[in-house]
Amino acid sequence: MKSPPGRKRPIDRPETVRQAKTWEGVKNEYVIAGLCNGCAGQAAYGHQLGFHKIHSPGLCCAGKTLPESVIDRHGSRAVRWLAGEFTAPSEDVT
Ligand SMILES: [Zn+2]
Repeated sequence: MKSPPGRKRPIDRPETVRQAKTWEGVKNEYVIAGLCNGCAGQAAYGHQLGFHKIHSPGLCCAGKTLPESVIDRHGSRAVRWLAGEFTAPSEDVT
């Protein structure tokens, strides 16, 4: 079985333009919602990769809540992430 040349299955691809745009859009929503750039970016990755795979929220944003409009659109996972449900807040124990 030969697969058609020049055509890859989506799973083999790096981030698509559409995914990158989605990531940026989600990140911007979290920035507007009051998170810092870094944590908003993590939250956007959380939606794409899973919240248990990303870094914990920084102390800058840990424990923050989000506007209902954002929760309506993206669900409460980010709120739970900010509350430390997926990962413990980073305390630099090294
Ligand atoms: Zn932050």
